Amino acid sequence: MINEGVEYACGVAYDIPDNVASADEPLHPALNCIVTVSQARYLVNTLSNHHGYLNIRLIQDEYAELQDYLEGLQSRHELLDLSDASKSPGDLIWTIIRQGLDLFKIQTKYVRRIVPIEINVRHAPVVVRELCFEINPTEQSANYLDERKYKKALAFLVGDAAMNAHFWPGRGMNNGMKAAIALARNILRSCTRNNSIEIHTPLRYLDFLDYESFIARLRACEQQGRPLHVLTDPVDRYINAFYSYIHLDHSCENYKEKLIEKLKESRTRLEDLSDWPHRSRPVTDDELEDISDRISRQAVPQLTLANPWPTREMSDVGVRVEDIFPYDLTKFLPIPAPNVVNVNRSVTVAVHHRCVILWIIGNEKIELIDNLVQSIQKSASFTKTPKNKDTVYEINVVKTAEDAKEWIESNQELIRKTEIRFKVITVWRIKDDQSAVDAIRAVRSVSPRVPVLIFTNKHEVIQPALEFPNVLVTDAEYELKEYAEIYQDTQWNPGREVSSLATLASPGKYHRNI
Ligand SMILES: Cc1cc2nc3c(=O)[nH]c(=O)nc-3n(C[C@H](O)[C@H](O)[C@H](O)COP(=O)(O)OP(=O)(O)OC[C@H]3O[C@@H](n4cnc5c(N)ncnc54)[C@H](O)[C@@H]3O)c2cc1C
Repeated sequence: MINEGVEYACGVAYDIPDNVASADEPLHPALNCIVTVSQARYLVNTLSNHHGYLNIRLIQDEYAELQDYLEGLQSRHELLDLSDASKSPGDLIWTIIRQGLDLFKIQTKYVRRIVPIEINVRHAPVVVRELCFEINPTEQSANYLDERKYKKALAFLVGDAAMNAHFWPGRGMNNGMKAAIALARNILRSCTRNNSIEIHTPLRYLDFLDYESFIARLRACEQQGRPLHVLTDPVDRYINAFYSYIHLDHSCENYKEKLIEKLKESRTRLEDLSDWPHRSRPVTDDELEDISDRISRQAVPQLTLANPWPTREMSDVGVRVEDIFPYDLTKFLPIPAPNVVNVNRSVTVAVHHRCVILWIIGNEKIELIDNLVQSIQKSASFTKTPKNKDTVYEINVVKTAEDAKEWIESNQELIRKTEIRFKVITVWRIKDDQSAVDAIRAVRSVSPRVPVLIFTNKHEVIQPALEFPNVLVTDAEYELKEYAEIYQDTQWNPGREVSSLATLASPGKYHRNI
């Protein structure tokens, strides 16, 4: 994946029962919108104003503090308790969360989960790949051109797997849907001649260059275009400015006036929009002034300094599927009737595979690496007793590339079993005498197509090794764990549940409330 930048946030999930006393009612959606677009620190994503997520942009130190605290809870198997201020810590991060809840008038007792979010704006370099895999890998005379032994398949990336947009401008879901439509139209186009279905086999990646180019345009627009305003205007600048002004108590009144001014400007801007959905519910000056009275004195300068959200600049049409795939779909396919959604998803094929990992860790002792190996060894995939007695999930740790070669030679039979996914992870340090290429040569000389992941932050040093097919490099722990097949889930952190609402059913999915 190619990274455009990283930002940090915290998601605070809340669920307010429908019939609460008026004192417990959150802000009206019209006010939610005005407050959200007036600054870029707090954002509410809601299905209705009673259920949703309060998202808070954090600087790296704040995020690290949140992570540490949640990891502490996790290791002690404790739930978070925000409702009792004396139980939850008075640390900075909790002050920031409480200020956000006050801003949108959400009581702490309705918070159900806190999720740290790393916003990794990144994308895959290509989204269409022709894969070639063995039909009968036990045959010795391997020849890539022999179609009887090798089967080709096309793989496509769509949605977040193809590219992550920054969620503040909030178009990740739209992008994923556009990509899916574009891919479907490309498939249809490749399989139709003169208005009738005619599948010519095999379909090749060349048939999907238009899909590749559609994603390239989408990426340019979503990661480098106007939505990048959010990434090029990180919160760090004004949050650091806020921390330096925090002691200047006398200027608070001044900040308060400026905040009300900002809220009023946003109200005028939104109410002037022809499609403003809350026309029948005008927001009064008193309601805006009430916001600045309700939040704490420290929160006022923070919100005043936070830049408003450049929603106007971001409201471009973006990349349209129609521009590259101008199909009249009604000519070809009936519109599918929606089925009942099955929420019990089955796991991917990958998790049914048996897996052997060979880990080359070098002689030097590095605590981090030892911990990583141990955490994988202790993970459910590697420890639970397999139903099938042939199931293999194991890690073998060796110290050098030569040891790796020796291990592979003496375990040929195991590795050759068709269902086993054999992989090698090497940890690379710049001062090692051997290059990564030596390690790959050693492994590949006995097992020619085995996938190799190099875990390093010295990407430039590792470059020559990436010339080998099926060699990946990463410095991200979660990518390493995905590779080792212990993360089979979403890339987002599930966060920690809050004790008071831990038993409530999950809320519906959010949608943007503006
Ligand atoms: C905090 C936040 C707020 C956002 N707000 C907005 C917004 O307002 N508007 C908007 O348009 N977008 C928003 N987005 C972005 C949007 O949520 C994503 O772009 C969108 O959900 C991506 O859809 P997807 O299907 O590609 O991936 P996902 O929704 O991540 O779906 C991938 C699915 O695959 C499953 N999975 C992963 N690995 C495996 C495996 N090995 N086997 C089986 N299943 C697996 C996962 O569990 C998951 O269900 C937001 C994102 C975040 C994090």
